[in-house]
Amino acid sequence: MHIPRVLAVNPHIYDFAAYNFWSSPLGLLYISSILRQSGLPVEFVDCMLVKEDRRKPDGRGPFIKEKVPKPDALRAVPKQFRRYGMSPDEFTRILAAREPPDLVLITSIMTYWYRGAVEISEIVRRTCPKAKIVVGGIYPTLCYEQARWNFKEADLVVPSNDIGAFYRFIEGGLGYTLSFKPMLDDLDILPYPAHDLLDHIPFVPILTSLGCAFRCTYCATPYMHRGMTRRSPESVLSEIIYWHDRGVRRFVVYDDSLLYSSEKFAKPLLRKIAGLPYSIDIYNPNAVNAAFIDDEIAELFVRSGFREVRIGLESIEPSVQSSTGGKVTGAIFERAIGALKNAGYRREQLSVYILAGLPRQAWQDVRHAIDYLKSLDVVPHIAEYTPIPHTPMFDQFKDIARFPVAADAIYQNNALFPYAWEGFTEDDLNRLKRYAKEDR
Ligand code: SF4
Repeated sequence: MHIPRVLAVNPHIYDFAAYNFWSSPLGLLYISSILRQSGLPVEFVDCMLVKEDRRKPDGRGPFIKEKVPKPDALRAVPKQFRRYGMSPDEFTRILAAREPPDLVLITSIMTYWYRGAVEISEIVRRTCPKAKIVVGGIYPTLCYEQARWNFKEADLVVPSNDIGAFYRFIEGGLGYTLSFKPMLDDLDILPYPAHDLLDHIPFVPILTSLGCAFRCTYCATPYMHRGMTRRSPESVLSEIIYWHDRGVRRFVVYDDSLLYSSEKFAKPLLRKIAGLPYSIDIYNPNAVNAAFIDDEIAELFVRSGFREVRIGLESIEPSVQSSTGGKVTGAIFERAIGALKNAGYRREQLSVYILAGLPRQAWQDVRHAIDYLKSLDVVPHIAEYTPIPHTPMFDQFKDIARFPVAADAIYQNNALFPYAWEGFTEDDLNRLKRYAKEDR
């Protein structure tokens, strides 16, 4: 029986700015690992290369990049446009030098980055005409019809919540029976993601949960994961030990719900990590919910290796807080900051995200939040609002954006500041960004 050869590709992207802020194609690495469990040989090309000589001690680093002309849709935007990651020519050379794969898996992550993934699919079709091409990831999940239209060379475009269609495609299209077909939310039985397929492993993202108990109106997590699934603390710890045994020292937690039901999940897990006979470094780029930070969590963060803590505040306006999801209030937030400082965290280790560019938001809202955070002696970080399909905020305001955000995902890029208005202009935003950095 012919055993299909699989190639997984994390494509290059086009954007006005990008930086490897502990990002990793985690979903594709999980899929690669699942297929290997069924005996399929998998190779991986990560086009999102980082300039290794400029990688920071914490694992972050700048992507390789090159200036490129803007596509027609973005012609009027007065910003430099770049390709981040490997060039299409380089990818073509790499692909042509390999034994042709039977199946090529392409991930398409942020909705407005789809162009790079489309280019990869076209190169694969030209270079390996017989290969089956499957495209998955966040873009097909959130913009399924657009993705089917744009990926003309794909044999299957699959949302991440339809893993069954993916398994059926392999078995039907390639005639190979898979012996291992887990659901993706079956976190305790999933094999560890195939980080070993990468050239080197600067950090390992550790998945502890999927989904969220909250319903923030700007966030697509509740749409992408209808329920909430937790992974057992024992399973998470085993994975940390596994990668540590292979030389990994930095770990990254993306989960928004790390601290939800902390007595059952986060606290036992962090106690176990703190009890390891060695120390590790942990980072949480996506922020944790301040409402769940008590004295014990703060102390466990220190003991388990959180080198810094990123926290979501979003806004200090009570009306904005309640209308966007109500996950935190000023009093709760201040209690969390107090606990973290008592545990020993210094100002530069406490970063707090505030949202800028929400529909109809006034710039003064962001200024007040920055002043508030400065008064608490923590570092404010402006997170620019991204309109994301299948969120209540997107549905409510898509028709008043400056760009046709629903018609083409390329306009969902927050660098375009889609909800600028006379009460919050791009100049205001740039001024606020400079102001947030003052006194650091
Ligand atoms: S922003 Fe965070 S807390 Fe709110 S719904 Fe999304 S994942 Fe949950």
